[in-house]
Amino acid sequence: MVTSDALAEARRRYRLHRERQIRAGTWRGLVDAEDARAHVRNMNRIWLISYEAVALAVGLNKSTVYHLMDGAPNRGLNPPAKISARASDAILAFTMDDLPDHVRINAVGSIRRLQALAAAGWPLTEIGARANADISRLSVIRSGEPPTVFVSMAQRIRCTFDELDTLNPLDYLPSRSVGYARSHATAQGWLPSKAWADAIDEPDVKPWQMVRCSHRTCIRGSKDERLLCDQHLERLKERGTLEGLRVMRNRKALIEDARFILATDPPIDPETEEIDRDRLAERLGTNWEALERTLLRAKISLDKLRESA
Ligand SMILES: [Zn+2]
Repeated sequence: MVTSDALAEARRRYRLHRERQIRAGTWRGLVDAEDARAHVRNMNRIWLISYEAVALAVGLNKSTVYHLMDGAPNRGLNPPAKISARASDAILAFTMDDLPDHVRINAVGSIRRLQALAAAGWPLTEIGARANADISRLSVIRSGEPPTVFVSMAQRIRCTFDELDTLNPLDYLPSRSVGYARSHATAQGWLPSKAWADAIDEPDVKPWQMVRCSHRTCIRGSKDERLLCDQHLERLKERGTLEGLRVMRNRKALIEDARFILATDPPIDPETEEIDRDRLAERLGTNWEALERTLLRAKISLDKLRESA
């Protein structure tokens, strides 16, 4: 069959491919497109990787990825609800390490890592030697200037950071150079690695936001290296100590705190894969009965709360 209509031709090829796979018993059909779509959207948001670069790296047609993300607006087509299992697998397995070295990605994680190493006391000469990277280039990145860096540079910075973040520079370097690196970092307002918790590559995260306040059952994000939230920092200033401070929250604050836990680190019961209600309540310094009463009074269910988190 010969046709000039490219769409009909594509449909024909797809049907043949499908029939061949059904005969061979390897046909897995179509799967929900949303996971793959969310993954590409995240790679684009976090690393600034274009749809085109994703397509190239995973071996799909550019048009397949564009269609997955945006549909075909000129033909009035919405993004597809389902895509082939093969395309979905390829996309979901993709990480930024699969990109070729010369692709440029968001510099945010590299900048934060270099600044955090300085705050810990690692001078640029030491980092450059371990990362096998040009010191002047590292210095430009550390200044926070470039919006993007090459994948290869980001990887070298990440590996060196992972190595050094667990070490004490004073075990390796003269205290004079460690002290100099630290005071330079302080003068620049650079933050320690702790400030980013596990979200060092997340462009939208604010420093300390992902780190819990250290006051007993408080689960608000902390604001600085004292590991306290706004409210507890304020109390500390007023009273000079947090000893003997009662843990008290009104209904609204309790619900907000529950929402925060559900959004950041929800306790999951491994058997049911549902929220573990008792552990959630425990982390809020209460029990499930009391938390359930609070939710009932506020006319919000745990599921609703989780959706809104
Ligand atoms: Zn607090």
